[in-house]
Amino acid sequence: MHPVLSRLGLAAELPGAASHGDLSTTGPLVASTNPTTGEALAQVRLASREDYETVVTRAQEAFARWRLVPAPKRGEIVRAMGDALRRHKDDLGDLVTLEVGKLRSEGHGEVQEAIDMADFAVGLSRQLAGQTFHSERPQHRMYEQWHPLGVVGVITAFNFPHAVWAWNAMLALVCGDAVIWKPSLKAPLTALATHRICDAVLTEAGHPGVLGLVIGADDEVGRALVDDRRVPLISATGSCRMGRAVGAAVAGRLGRSLLELGGNNAVIVHSDADLELALRAVAFGAMGTSGQRCTTTRRLLVHEDVADTFLPRLERVYRSAKVGDPLADGTLVGPLIDEDAVRGFEHAVAQARAQGAELVAGGSRVDGPGHFVQPTLLRAAPDLPMVREETFAPILYVSTYRDLGEAIAWQNSVDQGLSSAIFTESFRASQRFLSHAGSDCGIANVNIGTSGAEIGGAFGGEKDTGGGREAGSDAWKAYMRRQTCTLNWGDDLPLAQGVVFDVGEG
Ligand code: NAD
Repeated sequence: MHPVLSRLGLAAELPGAASHGDLSTTGPLVASTNPTTGEALAQVRLASREDYETVVTRAQEAFARWRLVPAPKRGEIVRAMGDALRRHKDDLGDLVTLEVGKLRSEGHGEVQEAIDMADFAVGLSRQLAGQTFHSERPQHRMYEQWHPLGVVGVITAFNFPHAVWAWNAMLALVCGDAVIWKPSLKAPLTALATHRICDAVLTEAGHPGVLGLVIGADDEVGRALVDDRRVPLISATGSCRMGRAVGAAVAGRLGRSLLELGGNNAVIVHSDADLELALRAVAFGAMGTSGQRCTTTRRLLVHEDVADTFLPRLERVYRSAKVGDPLADGTLVGPLIDEDAVRGFEHAVAQARAQGAELVAGGSRVDGPGHFVQPTLLRAAPDLPMVREETFAPILYVSTYRDLGEAIAWQNSVDQGLSSAIFTESFRASQRFLSHAGSDCGIANVNIGTSGAEIGGAFGGEKDTGGGREAGSDAWKAYMRRQTCTLNWGDDLPLAQGVVFDVGEG
């Protein structure tokens, strides 16, 4: 067994459900494999519908107590969770790399993001503020307040196996909610290790069961969670296909959903761009995490005046990028998550070429163990069917443009609306891009790339990306219920809008 797993207290065979203390689960065994080597790291025995029932029942009981703890006190416990993550940062970061193949600095960056979320949530725990309003009625007062919502279901994608849970859980916890996490079956070990570290802090503080974990099949525990009326909010991160299914199911029971779905993000390199900055940002955005971020740069729109300078430089970067072990120094591109992802990459390249795209660099899988592909650059018309799809792999489609309006229209022409960026030195071009007639995405950047958001702002996207917002700003409001209160301290009972309703008693 890998020493990182031992240090994190993980065994060769693990149960797939946990609340306070582990549950012994009875489902089939599923191996978590290292995408760099193709070797199994450990096995997880999946949770069943009955195991889910145990976890949700405990979460409901725990919620009834947790919501009574004052929010700043909840914040103190979240602070201790952040400290526990700090102590385990190196091992957890390495586990992310072992399980999903991110570069080591990115694996560690994920844990840092969770720590940042804990710090943010601690401050927030004293700022869950409502507004007060002037009543139209004399001697009346009106205000709104925010109450804990209940048990929150968090469904996460494989590519952020640690941080996305923290975006949700750290906020939900200070808001007074219990959390049930259903992680991706492609990254169960990171979920188990994270859950155990954070659950231990809550249990020691006297709040077992506030955090629950169920690792199981989508049509078993996934469906049970999504259909469960005892879970008022489902926060789901993943593909648009998943979002359509989950969003419809939650809406069908009139629940609340927070959807963080796929992206098809573009960078515009304008005629006056700082090409050095643009080159570095496009390379990181498109090749980083092997193209497996929701914010990955998938489309590049380059102004005709700079295309002949910029594109040969980009091609050289693509040809020299080191593909290999994400734990090794100097590696820029690690593996894809599994063999299906490699097949998806090969299919996309073949389809794009059949549709008229021209291969500039890469285009093939890398032979040997693990699931490696070459970072790939294709010249393609912006309206090709393949260009409009999100392929979770390091494929960048490049087009040139003459007019900025045309480039912005192309960038907005896809179904997804997550992240976008322009490189320009021009005040007018950048403001046009950021205006209401500019980018239609949830994230719009100037002179930085599409990928690598900070936690301070609200994160999420429009259109088929699902419309949800997580992490900073006022994203916390999704995890609470709003209540508007009107208080009468006078001797009369005036009705709003001047309505008169005089009753007599005899
Ligand atoms: P996926 O859609 O295959 O799975 C995501 C999660 O949803 C997994 O936990 C999966 O088990 C679960 N799931 C799928 N169908 C379900 C159903 N019917 N009911 C309940 N649960 C269900 O996605 P993936 O391959 O793990 O991740 C890649 C995708 O996630 C990409 O599209 C990427 O853009 C997106 N993503 C988006 C964000 C964001 O914040 N917008 C962040 C990370 C990843």
